[in-house]
Amino acid sequence: MAAAVCRLFEGVKLDIGPSTDSGFYYDFDLSHRLAPEDFPPIEREMARIVAEDLPFERLEVGRSEAQSLFESQGQHYKVERLADIPEGETITVYRCGGFVDLCRGPHLERTGQIKAFKLLSVAGSYYRGIETNPMLQRVYGIVGATQQEVDEHVQRVEEALKRDHRKLGKELDLFSVQDDVGPGLIHWHPKGARIRSIIEEYWRKEHFRSGYELLYSPHIGRSGLWETSGHLGFYSENMYAPMEIDDVKYYVKPMNCPFHIQIYKSQKRSYRDLPLRWAELGTVYRYEKTGVLHGLLRVRGFTQDDAHIFCTPEQVEDEVKRTVQFALRIWRSFGFTQITAYLATKPAKAVGTPERWAQATASLQHALESENIPFVMDEGGGAFYGPKIDLKVKDAIGREWQMSTIQFDFNLPERFQLAYHGDDGQDHQPYMVHRALLGSLERFFGVLVEHYAGAFPLWLAPEQVRILPISEKQAEVAGKLAAALEGEDFRVRLDRSAEKIGAKIRNAQMDKIPYMLILGAREAEQGTVSVRSRTAGDLGVMRLEELVGRLREEVASKAVSESKGAA
Ligand code: ZN
Repeated sequence: MAAAVCRLFEGVKLDIGPSTDSGFYYDFDLSHRLAPEDFPPIEREMARIVAEDLPFERLEVGRSEAQSLFESQGQHYKVERLADIPEGETITVYRCGGFVDLCRGPHLERTGQIKAFKLLSVAGSYYRGIETNPMLQRVYGIVGATQQEVDEHVQRVEEALKRDHRKLGKELDLFSVQDDVGPGLIHWHPKGARIRSIIEEYWRKEHFRSGYELLYSPHIGRSGLWETSGHLGFYSENMYAPMEIDDVKYYVKPMNCPFHIQIYKSQKRSYRDLPLRWAELGTVYRYEKTGVLHGLLRVRGFTQDDAHIFCTPEQVEDEVKRTVQFALRIWRSFGFTQITAYLATKPAKAVGTPERWAQATASLQHALESENIPFVMDEGGGAFYGPKIDLKVKDAIGREWQMSTIQFDFNLPERFQLAYHGDDGQDHQPYMVHRALLGSLERFFGVLVEHYAGAFPLWLAPEQVRILPISEKQAEVAGKLAAALEGEDFRVRLDRSAEKIGAKIRNAQMDKIPYMLILGAREAEQGTVSVRSRTAGDLGVMRLEELVGRLREEVASKAVSESKGAA
């Protein structure tokens, strides 16, 4: 593609063009503003290059040789990228016809091996993701072994676009990011906030049921706290500049852990007090480059569904198992049933004793095995302070999202000198586990919007029922019906517009309202309603009690089947 773009346009400056999980892209700097109309001629040129069956030639070059090569071609991004390659690493370029690119490889042998491809989209992208750098043009594409494979992929991409949470968030008025406030900072609008409050309410109830206590902690803390925790050392790049209060530096929290630890330390703990399971919907702020911010998925301020478990060595195995079971239960209730895991083990540089690493890692593995969760071992992929499990969930269109984390920590208990009094009369260090199930409410909500394509199941829908009177004459009965349903704790709206009933139904359908109640003269007289479901259509005439019973059951079961594929 890059070779084709260079053949077709003058003065193209190339940055990088990696493959991704779902295809590939290339970042170009060129004066012509690329648009989808440019794709067919680029694709035709690409087809010509494929037909020419050119070999890809791998060349090892010295640093100065590579530098003068790209300088002579005026490719200054390449010259800058060259400087990123560590000293001593072999530098390779690939030649394909007249096109030369800096690339680690490997490549196909010849262009003729490329069977099917398609360009998908073009978007602005700051050089190196930094907003003060030049804006490049990123062209996305896919390649496949067969045309059918490419076609199916295009279909999946189109389905994903339809479900994009940024698009649906706007259409359904769920959330926004405001320029006047700043990038990566989320505003929850009433409908989005309503869903969030239902999620939070459910989350709290499930935590109390599972033996957790809830905490609330401050949003800022003295620099000394973050020095002790080590965050000012290994995490400072993600922390915002401090503010000064009474001549002391305070940092906005990027994590909740040090505060929970303070509560642990607020009194002497005995083995009889453990395990302690403490959860908080804790809002944290972390620096992310502007270029990587993405709707609700990558943000600068978010609320973690955080928890810390403090326990004895004897309790570790059971606590991990309980946590994994808890995670599965929560995911299933939101309609996610396909879950896989990564188990990350001890890296070369690590703190904590070998015994603790071994016990913690084994307990994570046993929990995954006993719950029959397929997992991949990520040997040496753990953080320096402990092994962890990452859980990935598959959404309605088969995309995997990494959401839950269960992470041991041998570092913070040491740094903060945590202890409990054992039954042997001695002080011991407790095991500490960080755990987030949904991850963050922002990211979880983004995934949820895409999973349901904005058509939330009844228990989550911000507006569950809309009452549609056929004419003005039913206004009074409609008002009474709305009040009756509100009295039963349903979220109801009465459509008071002067539109015809067909238009009212269309609007409710567009707003993805689970149930529409149509009220005409006959229904008003008989004390019934015509019930219409967003997915199943006309359900016939019902009396209020029958309707209430049906809705109650659907809410209680958290049924999601009816909203699958409701896009
Ligand atoms: Zn933590």
